[in-house]
Amino acid sequence: MRRRWTTWIGATMAVFIAAGLALLTTFRAAPLPEPPPFEGELPRASPPEGMTLHKLPTGITHRSAAFAYRGGSFSDARDFTMTAVLVRHPKGDLLIDTGFGRDVDAHFALMPAFFRVTTSYERTRSAAEQLDAAGYDRSRLRGVVLTHAHWDHVSGMGELAQTPVLVTKAERKFIEEGGFLTAVARSIPAVRYETYELDGGAYLGFPASHDVYDDGSVVIVPAPGHTPGSVIVFVTLPGGGRFAFVGDLVWQLEGILQREERPWLQRTLGDTDEALVRENILRMASLAARFDDLHVVPAHDARAFAAIPAL
Ligand SMILES: [Zn+2]
Ligand SMILES: [Zn+2]
Repeated sequence: MRRRWTTWIGATMAVFIAAGLALLTTFRAAPLPEPPPFEGELPRASPPEGMTLHKLPTGITHRSAAFAYRGGSFSDARDFTMTAVLVRHPKGDLLIDTGFGRDVDAHFALMPAFFRVTTSYERTRSAAEQLDAAGYDRSRLRGVVLTHAHWDHVSGMGELAQTPVLVTKAERKFIEEGGFLTAVARSIPAVRYETYELDGGAYLGFPASHDVYDDGSVVIVPAPGHTPGSVIVFVTLPGGGRFAFVGDLVWQLEGILQREERPWLQRTLGDTDEALVRENILRMASLAARFDDLHVVPAHDARAFAAIPAL
C-alpha cells in the first residue's frame, strides 16, 4: 500500500516539475522574424504653433523584464509607468489614456484574485488632480483617447466626467462584453463614450486611420490584438518630434526593438488575439527600423517617457 502511494506521489511530482520546466521555456527569447524596413516616407503633417505634449505619471506597478517580454530577465526589475499624456492643441486638448485614478484601490479590488496576488502598485496623483494642481482649465479638454479599455488605462475616467472618452466601435463593444478585462471601465458611472470611425485611409503601414484635427498632428490607427479595439496614436509636434503611443501592444520597448512578444502566460491571460499582436509588433518594428527619430512609447515603459516633459 505504502509503495503504491510513494509511486503516485513521485509521478505527480514528476508531472509538476515537467510542467514547470515547460512553462519556463515560454519565457525564453524567441524574436519574431525581422521585417523589411518600412519603405514609405513620413506622412506630411502641419502641427500648429503652440501644440505641446506633456506626461502625467499617475503611479507604477512593480514588474520584471521577464514578465514583459520573451528573453527578459526575472532579476531585471521594471517599474511599469501608469502615465496619461496631455496633447495641447489650439483646437482643444486631448488626453491619451488616464492612468490610475483617485479610486484605483476600489478599481483594483474588482480585478480577479490571480491578478491581485501577482500585482503590487503605487499610486501618486491622478491625471485630473495633476491638471487641477497646475491650474489647468479642464474645459480645454476635447476628449480622452483610450489606447484600450483595460483597468490601468481607464481608472481616472470618472474624475473627467465632463470630457468625452473616444473609443473605436470595437473597443466600445469590448467594454460591454470583455468580462473581468473591462470590469473597471464598466464600473465607472456616467462616462460619455464617443465612438469614431477609422475611415481615413492607410497610414504608415496600418490599413486605416483617423486624423483627429485634420492637420496630421494626431493620427489614430487600428492595432487590434491586445484588445479588439486597441489603437496606436501617432503625434507630430511643431518642431518635428514624432511619437507613436502604442498602448499595450508591448509592455516594454524590447517588445518592438527586439521583436519579443509577451511570454505565453501573459499573452494567454492578457491578449485577445496574439496573432494580431504579432502582426502589429512587426508593423511597428519596420517603422522603428526605418525612422530613427520616431519615439515609440509603450504605455508602461518609463524609458520611453523620458523624452516627454511633465506638465
Ligand atoms: Zn492592457
Ligand atoms: Zn496597461
